[in-house]
Amino acid sequence: MKLPIISYGDPILKRKGETIEKDYPDLPQLVADMFETMYAAHGVGLAAPQIGRSIRLFVIDASPYEEDEPGLANFKKVFINAELVDEEGEKWLFNEGCLSIPDIREDVSRYPIIHVRYRDEHWVEHEDKFDGLAARIIQHEYDHIEGKLFTDKLSPLRKAMIKSKLDSISRGQVDVDYKMKFPASKKRKR
Ligand code: ZN
Repeated sequence: MKLPIISYGDPILKRKGETIEKDYPDLPQLVADMFETMYAAHGVGLAAPQIGRSIRLFVIDASPYEEDEPGLANFKKVFINAELVDEEGEKWLFNEGCLSIPDIREDVSRYPIIHVRYRDEHWVEHEDKFDGLAARIIQHEYDHIEGKLFTDKLSPLRKAMIKSKLDSISRGQVDVDYKMKFPASKKRKR
């Protein structure tokens, strides 16, 4: 089932996700729904807060980047209770977007190599090293479960330049071909 994607401006995107237990209700179905939602929106990653659950879960399928990095051909993974263990190298810029922030793309600076501890969908524990675009996508999704967005990483100047666009998104003034959920509009005093 496709789920609506929570838009920029909703406080759940600013909240740190909670660790989950193995018996989290309907976890396999939730993972399947998140992949379905992500594919329908042409994303390469989706984190649980983006579908309204404040938990440490995200899914990734980096195969659209196969042309740039052949190693990503079958890079489809589920990350449960991920913890960033280490980051290495010199930060590099890459143009990022986010399904919760449609029509905005900005260069974001991140470390090239990361070490992550996580459980997969079979509850097997891993500690893996990632680099290149895989590391980039994981860092973006990991930020979501930490309550951070890529726009938080921009310079004050860039942020000021896109502020009105971000405000429009949070008011629902966007044209996207996937279903989104916008923050409830604030009640006005009469
Ligand atoms: Zn995102």
